[in-house]
Amino acid sequence: MGEKDVLIEILYAGICHSDIHTARGEWGEVSYPLVPGHEIAGRVIGVGEGVTKVKVGDLVGVGCMVNSCQTCSTCSSGEEQFCEEGKTVYTYASKDVFHGGALTQGGYSNNIVVDEHFVIKIPNHAELEKIAPLLCAGITTYSPLRRANIKEGDEVAIVGFGGLGHMAVQYAKSFGANVSVFATSESKRDLAFSLGAKHFYNVKNSEEMQGLNNRFSFILSTVASSYEITEYIKMLKVDGEMVIVGAPSLANPATLDATSLIWSFRRKVSSSLIGGIKETQEMVDYSVEKGIYPMIEMINIDELDQAYERVLKSDVLFRFVIDMKSLK
Ligand code: NDP
Ligand code: ZN
Repeated sequence: MGEKDVLIEILYAGICHSDIHTARGEWGEVSYPLVPGHEIAGRVIGVGEGVTKVKVGDLVGVGCMVNSCQTCSTCSSGEEQFCEEGKTVYTYASKDVFHGGALTQGGYSNNIVVDEHFVIKIPNHAELEKIAPLLCAGITTYSPLRRANIKEGDEVAIVGFGGLGHMAVQYAKSFGANVSVFATSESKRDLAFSLGAKHFYNVKNSEEMQGLNNRFSFILSTVASSYEITEYIKMLKVDGEMVIVGAPSLANPATLDATSLIWSFRRKVSSSLIGGIKETQEMVDYSVEKGIYPMIEMINIDELDQAYERVLKSDVLFRFVIDMKSLK
């Protein structure tokens, strides 16, 4: 083990839709064998000589990154996911430039070794199995909502009400927004209200989708499949912003054409990729303090194939978490 390395016994691993996109090669070619999983919660069972951040026995998490150059200006400012040297090492299926270019393997496993900088501290009293999904679904939604400076009374829409979407609703509500949810599953209408949404729009119901132009100051899209982005841009107020985090397959992308964008007037469309380590720690601490957790369904590792199929059918409330004790 390296001087700054932390050895973690993985207790829980969340299933992110990105795991499915990657495992099935939907974002481009991948090399197998591949162990997905970047929503990791566990316990420290070993530390390198130079580790000061955590000690054996501590509860910790690991998200989507396990290393970066740590010295360029973006890494130094806490946004290691945008490392200017191009040395961000993702938790799985990523070339580890710090270890001879070997491909990283992720959290559906019994343990992982990570540089201490990329370890997130978890308070002892936290519900550990519910912390795992925060490490991706939590930070990916918390970060753009924070950056947008969402405040009391803002009209905010969350498009796609799955693993990411149901976290986004809770964060936006906690920042004081009036939250609207756009989803395809009618069965989730009441759940949206119980998590704090004021309005629910079934995108399959064309009547419900009428009369929404100029409504929102901020829209976060978490949709994992093909859809028309311009349809939502029109719902923004002038100078409003739509941030896209959902990343459909390359074969069935979300679409946006330049002319429609111009005729959407001066509204902004941007994107966001997870969040830096400092902000991830802030998000975990905030979530635990406010009691903001994902709704989870716990499974054993041998139920993985069925779980993937159910995610694709939006048949999970809202995140599967694998109990890693089931891995023998
Ligand atoms: P889920 O499958 O859990 O959630 C996606 C939800 O979108 C589903 O629940 C689905 O059902 C809803 N949906 C599907 N089609 C539509 C539509 N046309 N309009 C509105 N809603 C729709 O996936 P995750 O939340 O795990 O991930 C979402 C996406 O975000 C994935 O593409 C993933 O790869 C990506 N991602 C991106 C990250 C980033 O850093 N940018 C990080 C992590 C994930 P319902 O309608 O019932 O809500
Ligand atoms: Zn993820």
